[in-house]
Amino acid sequence: MITRREAARMLFGADRKLHRMLQYWAGTAIMYTIVIGLMFGPGALEGQPQARAICLYVAAGVAVFYPLVRIGARIGLAPTILAGLQGVFSISCHVWGYAIAGPMRGVTLVGLPVIVVFCVFALRPRQTLTLTAFNLAVMGGTMRWLATHDPVHFPPAAEAVNFAFVAVASLAVTLLTGEMSKLRARLKTQKDDLLTALDTIRTLATIDELTKLTNRRHMNELLAQEERRRDAGGGPTCIALLDIDFFKRINDSFGHAAGDTVLRDFAQATRAELREGDALARWGGEEFLLMLPNTTPASARAVLERMRERVAALAPAVEPGSGAEHRVSFSAGLSIWQPDEPIVDTVNRADKALYAAKAAGRNRVVEA
Ligand code: GH3
Ligand code: MG
Ligand code: MG
Repeated sequence: MITRREAARMLFGADRKLHRMLQYWAGTAIMYTIVIGLMFGPGALEGQPQARAICLYVAAGVAVFYPLVRIGARIGLAPTILAGLQGVFSISCHVWGYAIAGPMRGVTLVGLPVIVVFCVFALRPRQTLTLTAFNLAVMGGTMRWLATHDPVHFPPAAEAVNFAFVAVASLAVTLLTGEMSKLRARLKTQKDDLLTALDTIRTLATIDELTKLTNRRHMNELLAQEERRRDAGGGPTCIALLDIDFFKRINDSFGHAAGDTVLRDFAQATRAELREGDALARWGGEEFLLMLPNTTPASARAVLERMRERVAALAPAVEPGSGAEHRVSFSAGLSIWQPDEPIVDTVNRADKALYAAKAAGRNRVVEA
């Protein structure tokens, strides 16, 4: 048994934009059916030799536009072209209906401005205006021809009033929908601006501005995520705290800007050793937290050693006056997350190990 939702999905597709376009198509199909029904019902088209032909024409058009809307994007049919084609088809139906509906022809006039409303979602204001001009030219030409050739059934005065009615209504709708288009464009620009702002906020909330590493706030989220992952089962996780040695001296001897450069270079060098799933954050001033999921202590140690080599290979900071050099190194405390241990305790153990590494002479890794 197919549910209503499944049937709608089959008919209108899963893509939201396509779904909306096909719903418009369904809306127009319903309107055609109602208008034809109205004209047949009271007998306006009864006995009219072209009644069958116009019904077939309308049904064929509606049927052709369904696949065109459905695969339009895939075959490179621009939405504006598709909307224009639908508009022109609809105008032809209305004009034909007007010519054969006798005294019921007024019904078709109501539909003409509605075409513009349907097209406004795909057409630009200028294109909508062109469609309206085409609409009025074809309708006006038909009315004039009918009034000239069959003045008994199409009295010129009545045709003139009918034309004035359709012209005023179409132009008013065109202008109003033009305003709607502009409003929609403004809303879209605002939405894009908001998305950009949201992106910036997200970046600011997760990234450290100086080093471009994950910031402490986001790292805390990653640690909590890792805790949940571990609860669900998984390999060992290693945590390391890295602290640049004698960093204060760099600031004091070479200036704060040189200190900032060292921080950036340090971040770039250590980041190069990260695999997917690893995380390195700026935890404090010149202190960094490294999280290595699914990693044994031996592998974590190897990663830290490679980081030490990369940092040792960095260009030394040079004192402007004396030319004295200062090579950058770091100390690290490494801990492995024990079963059932809160991850903050693992971080604290890494901190203690870092303290031990400093006490033991720096530029080394100590395991908790
Ligand atoms: P140790 O080997 O024991 O870690 O010594 P240290 O000098 O590295 O440690 P200490 O904690 O005494 O000094 C850290 C310095 O880092 C102090 C602070 O001014 C500096 N610092 C913190 N954040 C920044 C920053 O963003 N830029 C710069 N240039 N310096 C910073
Ligand atoms: Mg330090
Ligand atoms: Mg420190």
